[in-house]
Amino acid sequence: MANPVLPSSGVLSPLGLDSVRVLPGFWGDRIALNNDVTIAHCQEWEEREGWIGNFRGERPRRGREFSDSEIYKLLEAMAWADHPGLPALAEIVAQAQEGDGYLNTRWTGSRYTDFEWGHELYCYGHLIQAGVARLRMHGEDQLTEVVTRAADHVCRRFMDGDETCGHPVIEMALVELYRATGAERYLEMARRFVERRGLPALADIPFGRAYYQDDLPVRQAQVFRGHVVRALYLASGVVDVAVETGDEELLKAVESQWERTVARRTHLTGGMGSRHADESYGEDYELPPDRAYNETCGSIASIMLAHRLLLATGDARYADLAERTMYNMLATGVALDGASFFYVNPLQVRVPATPLDGVNHAAEGGLRSPWFDVSCCPNNIARTLASLPAYVAAAKDGEVLIHHLTPAEIRSGRLALRVETGYPWQGSVSVRVLEDGEGRVGLRVPAWATDATLAHVPVSSQDAPLPEGPVIRPVGPGYAYVEGPWRAGDEIRLELPMRPRWTLPDRRIDALRGSAAVERGPLVYCAESVADEPPLAAVTARVDPPEEHETDGVVELEVGAKVSSGGDGAWPYGAASDAKQGADVRLRLVPYHRWGNRGPATMRVWLPTI
Ligand SMILES: [Zn+2]
Repeated sequence: MANPVLPSSGVLSPLGLDSVRVLPGFWGDRIALNNDVTIAHCQEWEEREGWIGNFRGERPRRGREFSDSEIYKLLEAMAWADHPGLPALAEIVAQAQEGDGYLNTRWTGSRYTDFEWGHELYCYGHLIQAGVARLRMHGEDQLTEVVTRAADHVCRRFMDGDETCGHPVIEMALVELYRATGAERYLEMARRFVERRGLPALADIPFGRAYYQDDLPVRQAQVFRGHVVRALYLASGVVDVAVETGDEELLKAVESQWERTVARRTHLTGGMGSRHADESYGEDYELPPDRAYNETCGSIASIMLAHRLLLATGDARYADLAERTMYNMLATGVALDGASFFYVNPLQVRVPATPLDGVNHAAEGGLRSPWFDVSCCPNNIARTLASLPAYVAAAKDGEVLIHHLTPAEIRSGRLALRVETGYPWQGSVSVRVLEDGEGRVGLRVPAWATDATLAHVPVSSQDAPLPEGPVIRPVGPGYAYVEGPWRAGDEIRLELPMRPRWTLPDRRIDALRGSAAVERGPLVYCAESVADEPPLAAVTARVDPPEEHETDGVVELEVGAKVSSGGDGAWPYGAASDAKQGADVRLRLVPYHRWGNRGPATMRVWLPTI
């Protein structure tokens, strides 16, 4: 089963890359671009920056203390993509492994001297995830041997004691290695790392122990806090441990932390993180659009967590958040050419960025960069898109549940299905039955699709007039089911309402009061101002139904607005608001994931309203 997450229990069993083939379409095109362009791009930069040379023993060592992990994420991407370059890169990594399994190009000679910032166990986590991918896609080879030796070294060194890593990820990696090999020591090691955290296990730091979720035991936490990627990688590992050990209390703890975090600490795009200084969550409702941090890796971690919770519980709300995050964060993180990336993803950019053509240190420019000093995001995108087919559907007692509506061929048990759709641009989804079979088919109806319809169209009645023909019934958010048995040629038709809709923020989000945003289907839209288009700083929008314009299959929107000059006074405060002043303009809205592809621009998702 070619799958990055393969729980041995839980409500749903995911279908892997061997059961789901994503066909050309929104995601199929991105997966192809990723496997053809992004993976090679990442390898080229890692070679150029000397991070691969570190494994060959080239000195001085180059890159940050965690740069080994980028090569491991790339190896994982290569494993899922069945990339021919994997064995040669694995060979280079193997050269750096020490006799007892230790492997780290930064800390060799001074191993385990800095648990707070050293990232040694973090690097093993990514190495192990690469090994699991290789094991499941290909079987044992040099990479999986390196991984087993490293994981065994970790178990020997850390099983007893109270140490853990400042950056989680080893937890979910070890559980997955347990699932892939059956060796229980990996699960036990993961369980102990989870239980150790928050006792506390790490030193206090200026950001506070909450930065690395060591401020209190995971069972006692109420909400995700601290560094977003750390928090969500940890929570993913906690779900894995809970599922494999049957620890209901632990699973419930993460579910309720997720619930509050989604309700109070998540941006409209699904992005998480409001503070730049420590890449962390803010307080509840602290969600400023211009200072939103929303690291691309945080969104990937959120998709990983939501997917795990979905499999454990079968609850569609997890797939809803995963979808929102996939379309508005994952798809945003990489440019349409597959070779430049966003690290932070604010919801408002006030100043057009200066074009970048090299390594970007700040990663806050508002233009995608080909590479970063800390290049976690490009490699994370590469491995996620390469494994994306595994997120699309799941099986449950002979049923197939389709979480993500994308052109695909899905085979499971006695069901063979082909999904055809122009989603997310169009709302029609057709699921064609390819072979005679049986079993229930469930399609997820997103939470915003409150007036969707579903029709079961047996092959025998496809030309029959109503009422003998298909019966169309309304379906609400959640999974909508159609029962078998099936004959080849039978069809399920789902129609989702794709009208653009205005979305208002909770009034406790002070930074967004008086604003509204436009969404259509799963896509968040934004106003983007390139060159001489209307300035966005003092824009005020009319909450009228947006007009739709389709160009080359992409749906853009237009709303009425007023634009005033604004900001010309000596003092930016006064007795009266000029919100109703200014010239009438038509404001073009583009899907948020496409912004920043036409050169330097200003941008805003949330529009102050008249
Ligand atoms: Zn990142």
